[in-house]
Parts: sequence; C-alpha cells; structure tokens
Amino acid sequence: MKHSTKVGIIGAGPAGLTLALLLQKRGIDCIILENRSRLYVESRVRAGLLEQNTVDLIRELGASERLDKEGLEHHGVYLSFNGVRQRVPFKELTGGRCITIYGQQEVVKDLIQANLDRGIEILFEAHAKHIEGTKTDNPSIFYQHNGEEHELTCDFVAGCDGYHGIGRQHLPKDTYNEFRIEYPFSWLGILANVAPSSDELIYAYHERGFALHSLRSETVSRLYIQVENDDTVDNWPDEKVWEELSIRLGTEGWSLQSGPIFEKSITPMRSFMIDNMQHGRLFLAGDAAHIVPPTGGKGLNLAVADIRFLASALTNWYDNQDDSLLQSYSQDCLRRIWRAQDFSNFMTYLFHKQAPHGSFENLLQKSKFDYIRISKAQATTIAENYVGLKEI
Ligand SMILES: Cc1cc2nc3c(=O)[nH]c(=O)nc-3n(C[C@H](O)[C@H](O)[C@H](O)COP(=O)(O)OP(=O)(O)OC[C@H]3O[C@@H](n4cnc5c(N)ncnc54)[C@H](O)[C@@H]3O)c2cc1C
Repeated sequence: MKHSTKVGIIGAGPAGLTLALLLQKRGIDCIILENRSRLYVESRVRAGLLEQNTVDLIRELGASERLDKEGLEHHGVYLSFNGVRQRVPFKELTGGRCITIYGQQEVVKDLIQANLDRGIEILFEAHAKHIEGTKTDNPSIFYQHNGEEHELTCDFVAGCDGYHGIGRQHLPKDTYNEFRIEYPFSWLGILANVAPSSDELIYAYHERGFALHSLRSETVSRLYIQVENDDTVDNWPDEKVWEELSIRLGTEGWSLQSGPIFEKSITPMRSFMIDNMQHGRLFLAGDAAHIVPPTGGKGLNLAVADIRFLASALTNWYDNQDDSLLQSYSQDCLRRIWRAQDFSNFMTYLFHKQAPHGSFENLLQKSKFDYIRISKAQATTIAENYVGLKEI
C-alpha cells in the first residue's frame, strides 16, 4: 500500500510520541510507525527521572493527569562517599526547580493514550526498513506491517527510532563526526516491591563500587550497583544484591529495607553522539543521535528537548515557509546535548570505582566529592545540571 502524511515519524518512544502531539496541536498531520507491540513499549522499564522542562512539556500537551497524581517531586539528592552522606538541595540552589520521579513506561502509556485520543495514527508492529529521497521534497519510508510491504510518503521524516534504529544509518557517513566512550563497567538494576528507604535519591561511591538508590513509587524501589561488563544476573541472587546494596549505600543511623525483586537486568554504560542530526528532509531526535550513561538521568529528557526544537522548526516551515530553524536544528540541539554529555560523564567518573582505593585517581575523586561539601558554587553546578538548565 502507498499512503502519505506530512511528517512520517519512526518510533513510538518518548521522542516520537511527544513530536506527534506537538505537531497535532499545531495542525500538522503525522503518522507514527513503531516496530514493537503496544504492550511491549508500554512495559519497557527504563528511565524514571524527569527534569522540570520535561514535566512542563507533558503538562503543556495535556497528558499529565496521572503524572500530576502519581509523580513524586524531589527537591534534593543525597551524595555519599564511603559512607559520608550529604544533601544537595535543588530548590534553594536553582530558584525553586525540582525533578519528578515517574517511570518511563508510565510516561509512554500516557503519551500513547493522548495520541490515540487525538486521532493520531500509531501503527504498532510496523517495521521501518529503509528511507528514500531524503534530499527530495517527498521522502518515503518503506515499512512492513502485517506481513505486507508499504510506502509512506511525507514532507519530512523524523527518525525517533532509538540507538538501534534505521534513521541514523540514512545520514551519509561524511556528514558527521561520531564520539563514543564504552565505560569499563555496567549497572545491575533491580525493581523491588518495597517502600523506598530514602525520601530522595542516593548516589554512592564505595570502595566496592557505585550504588544508586532510586524509586518508582511509594511502594516500588529501583536500585542499581556497579558490576563488571561481563557479569550476568545469574551471579546475583536476591540476597547477594541486597547485601551489596546495604554495604555500598550504608551510612551511620540508616538502614536499607529489602523486599521481593521482580526485575533484574544488566545495562552497559556508554556515551555516544554524532555532531549532525539531519540530512535533507530527514531529522533525528533522541537516542537515535545520542546516548548518555544513565548516571545523570538525562536520556529521556534530552530526547524530549530535541523534540521541542524539531516541532518549532517544522511549525515555522509550515506556517511561514521559513526553513531557518530547520537549518539550525542540529546546532540548536547540540548545545544541550554536549552539556548533558559532560554532566553525565562527570557524575559517572565521580561515583564509580575505577582505580584502587587510596590511589592518586581515587584520592582526586574524593577531593572532588569533598569540594561539593565545602563549596556552594560546586553544589549549585550539580543542582542546576541535575534538574536541567532551563534555557540552553
Ligand atoms: C537502565 C536505563 C535507565 C535509564 N534511566 C534514565 C533516567 O533516569 N532518565 C532519563 O532521562 N533517561 C534514562 N534512560 C534513557 C532513556 O530510557 C532513553 O534515553 C529514552 O528512551 C530515549 O527515548 P527515544 O524516544 O529517543 O528512544 P526509544 O525510547 O528507544 O524509542 C525508540 C522507538 O523506536 C522503535 N524503533 C526502533 N527501530 C524501529 C524501526 N526500524 N521501525 C519502527 N520503529 C522502530 C523502538 O521500538 C522504540 O520504541 C535510561 C535508559 C536505560 C536503559
């Protein structure tokens, strides 16, 4: 079948779903192609930390009813180095801004529902295979759906199809530089049915490795520990996970509550980006163009930040026949992406074990941590990057 729309969007993750809602609000037709089932994308456990800008956008899109009820606002974060814990207060250091804890799968559920309520077509289990004509006025996405081949012709293609998608493969290799760091450690992450043992997140360096206490709700905790890249979940029975978390997160007068673990997985830590996100009528957004290690909680937020620029640029083109914002799209996004890459890299090196305890590198790490304790300027730097810079 051959059909057409104005903007063909590949991927129903946070990037594709917010783009569709913003375009629909501005009267621009679009269709989303998503290669997984609705159930699969709605239950994929990933991020959980929403910057203020992301929450503001979801509200602006009228999709925040559950987020406003169930999201947990956090006004600070605990940082710990070998058991010495300190709090960085966001509110007083950033003029009242905060983060909200709300699972990515819940964000995706809400955004899918909002898209469907507004009549936006999402084709689930539609596998985009290649894109043609990106340098013409009518590019096409060729995809497979229900065992049949289809062609979607559009004015623009938005590659919101994540790190493993096809969008990036359609940028000519000589149009961008690629940057990549594979960190020599991974995260073992668990979800457990137990009330969080802390009212705010705890990032901890320990001589046995990094640990993070996060949460998803008042009854579900999300916790992570640093493991080797070749480790497997089979090496981590539940009791061993809780014991290790207790040691690494421990501080005087505090104890970690354990409970039944219902999800356990290992994620490698990677920084990746390209310095051009467009070619002709093809525009990339989100993980398709950049990956940050999850230490800074930035991936979902960056994806949504790209979309703000892309939606404005497309609106300007349709309303005013002005392509200036489309031309500057990559450069406009890259300012924020570089900032998030730097902050995520900083948090990763500050809290992970990379060198033997007591070595020069390790003592520099400790000095950086102590500096946060004594310097309001350094604590402010962390706070404003953590909640997300408002304008950039
Ligand atoms: C363990 C973990 C923890 C994280 N924690 C955080 C956090 O706390 N805060 C944060 O902000 N970020 C975090 N992230 C990152 C965050 O999850 C991603 O950055 C976010 O999902 C990016 O959204 P996206 O829409 O760009 O891509 P995705 O969510 O990957 O969506 C892309 C979509 O495209 C679809 N697709 C791919 N190829 C095709 C194709 N050929 N045809 C059709 N569809 C296709 C995919 O199925 C997918 O649904 C975390 C990630 C992980 C793994």
